Amino acid sequence: MSPVARSTCPFCIHGHFYQPPRADPFTGRIPREPDAAPYANWNERITAECYAPLAAADVFGQISFNLGGTLARWLEEHAYPTYERIVTSARAYHAAHAVTNGLAQPVHHTILPLARHRDKVCQVRGGLASFVHRFGRQTEGMWLPEMAVDLETLQVMAAEGIRFTILSDEQVRGDLEEEAGPYLVRLPDGGEIAVFVRDRHLSNALSFGMPDPDHVDDWLQEQMPYRCRRGGLVLLATDGETLGHHHRQGVEVLQRILAAGERHGYEMTTLTRYLHEHPPRAEVEVIENTAWSCSHHLDRWTVGCDCTQGDSRWKGALRRALDNLACDLDNIYVCQARQWGADPWRLRDDYIAVVLGQVDSMSFLAKNGLGHLNEEQARRMDRLLEAQFYRQRMYASCTFFFDDLSRHEPRYAIANGIRALALTRYASGEDLSRSFRRDLAIPVSSKSGETGAAIFDRLMEQS
Ligand SMILES: [Zn+2]
Repeated sequence: MSPVARSTCPFCIHGHFYQPPRADPFTGRIPREPDAAPYANWNERITAECYAPLAAADVFGQISFNLGGTLARWLEEHAYPTYERIVTSARAYHAAHAVTNGLAQPVHHTILPLARHRDKVCQVRGGLASFVHRFGRQTEGMWLPEMAVDLETLQVMAAEGIRFTILSDEQVRGDLEEEAGPYLVRLPDGGEIAVFVRDRHLSNALSFGMPDPDHVDDWLQEQMPYRCRRGGLVLLATDGETLGHHHRQGVEVLQRILAAGERHGYEMTTLTRYLHEHPPRAEVEVIENTAWSCSHHLDRWTVGCDCTQGDSRWKGALRRALDNLACDLDNIYVCQARQWGADPWRLRDDYIAVVLGQVDSMSFLAKNGLGHLNEEQARRMDRLLEAQFYRQRMYASCTFFFDDLSRHEPRYAIANGIRALALTRYASGEDLSRSFRRDLAIPVSSKSGETGAAIFDRLMEQS
């Protein structure tokens, strides 16, 4: 038709696959979730609707993706064929292209700009170690939970060898003439990192205006030509659950998009592959303390904002309770670790090997300079390390994401706090439950009138 050969533009789809932790921190089991019927819980349901069909269609060998730790672990234990297919597809991608299409993710999906430096380091190192554990090789990219960003987080990532992340176009300042980039971001410590900038409108057009499979060509005709005009990378990044779970037809729609490049003038690629072929040529500045899911300076996870309905003052009060508990837990842990001659934060970073089941805790302690501890001391140290794991899990972004304190997610954060303080009590004899409960008397659910302390009491009765 066209007398001139049309050049194709590079197009990448990135899926963020994640589920919040759902298992009871005391039993490790997911309580029955009636609203997920006919499935026993949401993980099972979303696997059937989204992860399993996407894996069967080899989507994880074609798109760029990250797979959150809680979800990866659950799939490995409860939906192994799907898990195996994801890993196999990603490995086949590497075999074909000599780069990985997967990105790592901080272990507990923490809003990293709100975390202390040492917690940022722990989350990033643990996320990288988890990626190697699952996919058998290093990755060069990391997904930021909720795309929440500050420069300190980027510095920590760059220092750990991460070469790039993804942000949304409203989170950067500068000329975006290179479309999705990658762009260079210069960091205050003299380092640098590459940032891919997602096309927010295109991403939302798929997430919130998913076409029927029969209308994918019309949709592409509407969305792609003017985006492809300049020949730069076009990046659509969205929650993976959009495909098949939020929109039933999403799996088929994605397959059609992946197959329609020739007709619509684009060629599918992935972020790492594109970065290798096209190092950053332009620079942007990052707008700190922003996220893709809140335009109010991270208020969604701190003091509350219009992103959630109703009275969200509970968020700040709950965060204060968790911060106070974390501070007390850290003091006890650090004191004990130093007394026995360990570097507490390095030891905690490396503990991910125990969490991943790569090593048992006694061998881990022996390997990390604590072989001189007797059995009882080693058990105490292990409990304090385990407490640090649950203490970090209190800060999963979902704790503060929704509208009400009496929801599952904040309750779950309090349960993780209880688990951490119980382990600490076994290990040290110190009981932090009274101070935690006192702080939890401040946050109140505007829906149920229940305080955090009432939730604490109910959890204590069950545990
Ligand atoms: Zn907001």
